[in-house]
Amino acid sequence: MTGRPPSGAPVFGSVSGAPSGVAAAAGPPTPAVEGVDADAALAKVIVGLSPNGVLVTDASGLVRTFNQALCRMVPLVPDPIGRTPIDALPIPAIAEALSPGRTDEAEFPLHVGRIDLLVRVVPLGAGLGRLCVVQDVSRLRQAERYRQEFVANVSHELRTPATAIAGFAETLLHDPELLAPPAVRMVETILRNSRRLTDLFDDLLQLARLDAMDTPPPLQELALKAVVDEVFDKHAAQAVERRIRLVASLSDTIWVLAHREAMQHLLGNLVSNGIKYTEAGGEVQVRARPRHAGVIIEVIDNGIGIDPTHHERIFERFYRVDRGRARSAGGTGLGLAIVKHLAKSMKATVEVRSRPGRGSTFRVWIRGGESGGASA
Ligand code: ADP
Repeated sequence: MTGRPPSGAPVFGSVSGAPSGVAAAAGPPTPAVEGVDADAALAKVIVGLSPNGVLVTDASGLVRTFNQALCRMVPLVPDPIGRTPIDALPIPAIAEALSPGRTDEAEFPLHVGRIDLLVRVVPLGAGLGRLCVVQDVSRLRQAERYRQEFVANVSHELRTPATAIAGFAETLLHDPELLAPPAVRMVETILRNSRRLTDLFDDLLQLARLDAMDTPPPLQELALKAVVDEVFDKHAAQAVERRIRLVASLSDTIWVLAHREAMQHLLGNLVSNGIKYTEAGGEVQVRARPRHAGVIIEVIDNGIGIDPTHHERIFERFYRVDRGRARSAGGTGLGLAIVKHLAKSMKATVEVRSRPGRGSTFRVWIRGGESGGASA
């Protein structure tokens, strides 16, 4: 089926094993194309030499042309020209994306055997059918997997000694007889920094796990108020230490379609940021209300705020508005990147509204609603 050409040779329809009709797209400007516009002939050669698989349907949705690269990536029948896409290649997702009725663009990953593919389908214009481009991204995906595994392994390995250092520093500080007074400040610094390291490794591990996740986490209907209460409990000590009031303004009847742990992490990171970037005496509030087929959750603080020039970038890994302040507040620079990732895994979106000195509102839109009585 694959008809791989001799290495280095251009791939054209005459190569043995190629499905018939491939020359229609891939042939060089031979006498058969004499008189045809030179640009069109050139386009055919380019499509034929493309490392990406190409398939074009006509206005009635039948296969009009394709190239040899496609034959190497997907199981194409020997004579696909003039067939419906599902008859030409038995992959329902591609056939569906090539339906003649569709006018939108589609992009999706596809696994064929051990090959990772990225499929893009676009309309060619009125009366012209659709174009499908298939890219082999196996090497790219493998490199990504190696990187994720490496980060996860390094974080895991380094977390263990960092935890031990923090543990011993804590023990020393708890026993006043073990330390001479001048050493106390130093051991406190050791404890603070080793905790920062374990936080950083935890966040890196979590991001690596999220990156590596092939399928989204299973979602269920969750009572949001219970999750918010758990998050507040977890951050109560941090809030007391920084003299920040935590306020939950939402009804018990609001539910969201979410993964409990993912939701706890997401809201936990936003609440923790609210606490970190608000002056003592301030407030962090979580509000929620149903909206259309979903729920809008807002984490609102009256803290230092964020200039709009940074709004897009704060969700990037390691981006901080004020590096010094974020460090001293105990930030890793990964919290919002994790929030964005977690939101995406639950088909939710997150955005920020903030002005310097006027506090920040992080707004999460997620599927859910309000039940009549006790929530799910
Ligand atoms: P960090 O661990 O540094 O807090 P995040 O990814 O959670 O990293 O946030 C990125 C940056 O966005 C922070 O360093 C901070 O500058 C800014 N930021 C996040 N949340 C808030 C907030 N509630 N108020 C003000 N600034 C914030």
